[in-house]
Amino acid sequence: MKKKRIVILGSTGSIGRSALDVIGRYPDRFEVAGLAAFSSIETIAKQINTFRPVAAALYNEEAAEGLARKTGMPVWGGMDGLCKIARLEEADFVISAISGAAGLLPTLAAIRAGKDVGLANKEVLVTAGAFVMDEARRYGVKMLPIDSEHSAVFQCMERGGHGLNRVKNIILTASGGPFFGKNRKYLATVKAADALKHPNWEMGRKITIDSATLMNKGLEVIEACHLFGVGHDKVKVLVHPQSIIHSMVEFVDGSIISQLSKPDMRSPIAYALSYPDRLEDVIPQLDLTAISGLTFAHPDLETFPCLAYAYKALGAGGTATAVLNAANEVAVAAFLEGGIGFNDIPAVIEEVMSAHPPRPVSSEHDALEADKGARAAAHSVIKRRKKV
Ligand code: NAD
Ligand code: MG
Repeated sequence: MKKKRIVILGSTGSIGRSALDVIGRYPDRFEVAGLAAFSSIETIAKQINTFRPVAAALYNEEAAEGLARKTGMPVWGGMDGLCKIARLEEADFVISAISGAAGLLPTLAAIRAGKDVGLANKEVLVTAGAFVMDEARRYGVKMLPIDSEHSAVFQCMERGGHGLNRVKNIILTASGGPFFGKNRKYLATVKAADALKHPNWEMGRKITIDSATLMNKGLEVIEACHLFGVGHDKVKVLVHPQSIIHSMVEFVDGSIISQLSKPDMRSPIAYALSYPDRLEDVIPQLDLTAISGLTFAHPDLETFPCLAYAYKALGAGGTATAVLNAANEVAVAAFLEGGIGFNDIPAVIEEVMSAHPPRPVSSEHDALEADKGARAAAHSVIKRRKKV
């Protein structure tokens, strides 16, 4: 079998490292063609040494020059460099695992170069989902989900028979994060270190905070609508603290199909890489008798309003979800720096969203313009909140 040649955008992150772990364990199936990250020369140099890609890219131009000197290989810098590696001729498949809307242009570059995409970066679809999915159809490329919930839905859909008109609801499960069951008064006192302690998953800092606010689930509802082509009235969320059932699809006859495994991102990453095949022994076996119970609850939208804002943005359409995402990125960064409180995250998003009348998105430029405006608006809301 011909080896699949892979580019990883965001190789030094949590998803990037798990992807390299999978690739390294199945050397007869996969090889690394290119690696890209933000600026961490040391980490990416080690990865280059182990996986021997033909090229690399770093967003930070100075770091890119440093890495080129250190390794003597082609290293491209800036957003152009990321897009260039996403189009790499020697690659067939691109894992999109940069965090945030910064992943949009490189992901589009991969699509337009005809590469199949393994999509971890949900912000790409939140920022410009309808447009990106149209481009994927236009260029005939597959968008394979890596987000665990969407991988689960994708796997359940494949068993579902007669297509979308037989799907009643997509049910995304949420762990509930570290603050499940807490009230707003308690949340007003939490610090970044508390929010970074996720009960079930080891992830990058931004998505870990998103999990604590439930914005991660909001972004995932938007991601699901675009990936699976359903309206948001068909995407529901249930809190399932054990993170064993990764999501479910309810069909019109009342039957529900779900996907279960230990919470380990190597499972959805491997499935995206090997699809439609399955690799052997990707993750440790799930011992069903060791699970004491599987519980489900409705999310508390009063305490965690970010999820409600995501539905609202979907309803508003156009640039509204790009604005939601950009305001969230800025607010989360400010919270991580200790500049604002936990409950300020939804407050900032709400304020930015309500001042933005949505416009249609017919290109990446429309989405990125809204993203830029929302970032500026979020910064000024944060500045004002800090003063009072
Ligand atoms: P992370 O913070 O651990 O890693 C992010 C990676 O992107 C790093 O390699 C970083 O160098 C790179 N990066 C960041 N900004 C960049 C830029 N401007 N240019 C180039 N590279 C840049 O994040 P993560 O947890 O691996 O998450 C990555 C994406 O996958 C996010 O969109 C997240 O929502 C999604 N995701 C993650 C998980 C998880 O378990 N970690 C699960 C599902 C989805
Ligand atoms: Mg997820």
